[in-house]
Amino acid sequence: MLSCRELSETATDYLEGALTLRQRVGVTMHLLMCKHCRAYVDQLAKTVSLLKSGQAEQDMAEPDPGVIDAFRKARGKP
Ligand SMILES: [Zn+2]
Repeated sequence: MLSCRELSETATDYLEGALTLRQRVGVTMHLLMCKHCRAYVDQLAKTVSLLKSGQAEQDMAEPDPGVIDAFRKARGKP
């Protein structure tokens, strides 16, 4: 039986059909019993289909320069 944490880690692969049959069964079983994860995967599926349809393209634009700057600082040296 998968934990909720394990499920959240495999949810993207699950939606993309990248899991093995055994993994898919485990995820499906968990979703049948856990409405919290069902809602999570449902939401994720909507997000993924939105991304694939291109409607969320604006959100996927170039990262803000400030973000890149903060990232460099966080890593230390460039
Ligand atoms: Zn769960």
